[in-house]
Amino acid sequence: MSTVTASPFRFFDLVVAAAERLSPTMIRVVFAGPALARMESAGRDQRIKLFFPHPGQDAPVMPNDDGTNWYPAWQALDPEVRGIMRTYTTRSLTRDPDRLVVDFAVHGEGGPGSRWALRAAPGDRLCVLAPVVAENVAYDFRPPAGTDWMLVTADETALPAVAGILAALPVGVPVRAWIEVAYAGDRLALPTPADAHVTWLVRGTDAPVPEAVAAAELPGGTPYAWVAGESATVKAVRRHLVRERGFDRGAVTFTGYWRRGTTEDQLLASAENA
Ligand SMILES: Cc1cc2nc3c(=O)[nH]c(=O)nc-3n(C[C@H](O)[C@H](O)[C@H](O)COP(=O)(O)OP(=O)(O)OC[C@H]3O[C@@H](n4cnc5c(N)ncnc54)[C@H](O)[C@@H]3O)c2cc1C
Repeated sequence: MSTVTASPFRFFDLVVAAAERLSPTMIRVVFAGPALARMESAGRDQRIKLFFPHPGQDAPVMPNDDGTNWYPAWQALDPEVRGIMRTYTTRSLTRDPDRLVVDFAVHGEGGPGSRWALRAAPGDRLCVLAPVVAENVAYDFRPPAGTDWMLVTADETALPAVAGILAALPVGVPVRAWIEVAYAGDRLALPTPADAHVTWLVRGTDAPVPEAVAAAELPGGTPYAWVAGESATVKAVRRHLVRERGFDRGAVTFTGYWRRGTTEDQLLASAENA
């Protein structure tokens, strides 16, 4: 069993080395920078914070802090000026040369993250908050000992995390996955040593994820579920698994990656006021 140790995070000033469109919805951005040598990743659903510049700024305005006390330091800055924070996933972190890859599911001009990715070009500057230890608290895929098989559901925002999770699984582990995407062309290759059956669902054409899971025949044995994507969908899947399928609550990891009609700033503000 893995133990969660101290999880220091640091700010990394990075520059775009390349940007390419992987599919109708997904833009892959490759980041470089000398600081990257210190970055680490859990190699699964490793979440990181990206800080985007406001229009007219050539780099995000960040606190004078290396990241150790980052949140109060960032909060103390003027929201109209400070880097705009959004949550993304380390799609990959590779060496020789040091490169961080982030896959952006774009949704038009609707938010600063999507807007930035649509225009990303070599030389663009960004700040990233990321771990400097591989075993850190900022990943959630943690199947308990004794898990026989795994259930995964996601949409395009959680596709980078699913890719990391599937790639890191042991050989032959049975996995049933449902992934909802906007277009048939958004289906990406998901190499894995696991025995994974992936069902792609195209929004508006196929059944939504909760319906598809409810209609499925599931394997026997002790399951572990990792459920991510739009908040209402995530809640519906979790409710179904716990109430109707009898999954142990503790064996269902569920994370709302975004909420329809709500920006990440609004989600953060409501979590702080809760
Ligand atoms: C742990 C974690 C990991 C994540 N990893 C990734 C990742 O690797 N790649 C990735 O693309 N996203 C990822 N996300 C989701 C991403 O943080 C949100 O989609 C975020 O809202 C995007 O910011 P934005 O500035 O584009 O939109 P915001 O300003 O936050 O929102 C503006 C509007 O757009 C809507 N919106 C947000 N996202 C979408 C969407 N995908 N489709 C349609 N409408 C949307 C909101 O509901 C809101 O109405 C992750 C989220 C979490 C919590």
